[in-house]
Amino acid sequence: MLSTMQDGRLSLANLLRHGTSVHSASEVITWTGSEARRETYGDLGRNAARLANALRSLGVTGDQRVGTFMWNNAEHMAAYLAVPAMGAVLHTLNIRLFPEQLVFVANHAEDQVVIVDGTLVPLLARQLPHFKTVRHVIVANGDAAALEAPDGVQVHAYAELLAGQPDTFDWPDVDERSAAAMCYTSGTTGDPKGVAYSHRSIWLHSMQVCMSDSMNLAQSDKALAIVPMFHAMAWGLPYASLMVGASLLMPDRFLQPAPIAAMLAAEKPTFAGAVPTVWQGLLAHLDANPQDISHLREVVVGGSAVPPSLMHAFEEKHKVSILHAWGMTETSPLGSVARPPAGATGDEAWRYRYTQGRFPASVRARLIDDDGAVLPWDNEAVGELEVQGPWIAGSYYGGAEVDPDKFHDGWLRTGDVGKVSADGYLTLTDRAKDVIKSGGEWISSVDLENQVMGHPAVAEAAVVGIPDEKWDERPLVAVVLKEGQNVTAAELREFLSDKVAKWQLPENWTFVDEVPKTSVGKFDKKRIRASYSEGKLD
Ligand code: ADP
Repeated sequence: MLSTMQDGRLSLANLLRHGTSVHSASEVITWTGSEARRETYGDLGRNAARLANALRSLGVTGDQRVGTFMWNNAEHMAAYLAVPAMGAVLHTLNIRLFPEQLVFVANHAEDQVVIVDGTLVPLLARQLPHFKTVRHVIVANGDAAALEAPDGVQVHAYAELLAGQPDTFDWPDVDERSAAAMCYTSGTTGDPKGVAYSHRSIWLHSMQVCMSDSMNLAQSDKALAIVPMFHAMAWGLPYASLMVGASLLMPDRFLQPAPIAAMLAAEKPTFAGAVPTVWQGLLAHLDANPQDISHLREVVVGGSAVPPSLMHAFEEKHKVSILHAWGMTETSPLGSVARPPAGATGDEAWRYRYTQGRFPASVRARLIDDDGAVLPWDNEAVGELEVQGPWIAGSYYGGAEVDPDKFHDGWLRTGDVGKVSADGYLTLTDRAKDVIKSGGEWISSVDLENQVMGHPAVAEAAVVGIPDEKWDERPLVAVVLKEGQNVTAAELREFLSDKVAKWQLPENWTFVDEVPKTSVGKFDKKRIRASYSEGKLD
């Protein structure tokens, strides 16, 4: 029997209409270095319409791709709305990709137009001649004349292009299952892979972000989105904020601890999202420059494992609660959120908070062993995590032949290894490729990192497996010390001795100035391993 209910389009045009009218007084606030420039959601809606009209005038039709090469700011937000709502597809280009990867993704997605921030023009200009399908570049927040256009490409100034455009647009009725936005994962092997989110998947994901046991984003929030809009759609914060009317604070290019502290002081956001390394940096900055940040009711941290020491430091020194979450570009990205179950208090609550979190109803999950058998959720059996659901990728852009190993029987193979408790909390022990295989046993690099980072002299620690004749692999710890601190490898080993099994105690240590990071700010273990094999680490 068919239901008697309407379908109701879960489209971004409808989200735009809602957010920019019902919540027209909420704001998108962009940091400019010393102060903020403000735009109401009402103005944002009008600017999105102007941008859509401008893109039409440049010939953007159908589901053509419009790339953005931008920081988190109001203009990027306008593109987030205008491009999908007009039926085209937003392609957020990661400004930190290696040049050849950037060229690959722009050509693979067949971007027709790229909107670029003025400060990023020099970075884009070097690769632009290799972009085969781009016909127009729009320079926002900067000098369009500074960009020398390659043959066949026209350059426009954002403000001038939008100035004469109507502030309304006849948003088309787009099928909710069609692509709204795409994002490429940086790709650990081979070329980057494209994930195309649908209007529907973004809508459902936004609702999840706002649920109280999830990120709990609400109208009363001012959300600081440090996680870049070119990284897994800024974890869904822009669309979710529009859905409930939370204001957005955008850091633009000011991503270092000092300017983040300054924007916290000036704007007092209630909520923020960023990868652990950002919070490590901010913590060190606040140690040296104390400041009250208790206006942050919660900060969501994920993208890589959050060391418990970081969570405790924020809670105890700053009265700020870190909410640990897990996800991937392929999962929109929200996969699980570590809010403890009702009734858990004290140490028990902390143990839940250290996990990668609990799966929401829309994310089905299972653990698989090496032979493909499904493992129990007993918080002991360790296997590869597979997930499925309405905002989980079912393939990569380009069809089933792109990395077919990643998908099977309707499941996404995450490449993450861990265990799950009977009440649905995931604990990741590693990425499959980072697990250290020592003497037939597995050592969790994440576990070791968390323990080493618990030492008061340590700012950061990354652990990789290095070849070993006897054991196959052994852990190597790359340690960054806090400023002015001193500790030896022997002392760190001693510190670990009552925290990890004896056979796991690393004998290889190296002290470095900085842990190399990937384009999205995670420890770049591939580069650490390469430096080691080239003899650059001892
Ligand atoms: P990339 O592959 O470029 O790092 P993603 O952001 O898609 O891009 O990375 C997703 C991966 O990040 C996950 O598969 C997992 O390995 C890791 N990750 C994300 N969140 C967490 C977390 N809370 N704890 C541990 N690992 C995490």
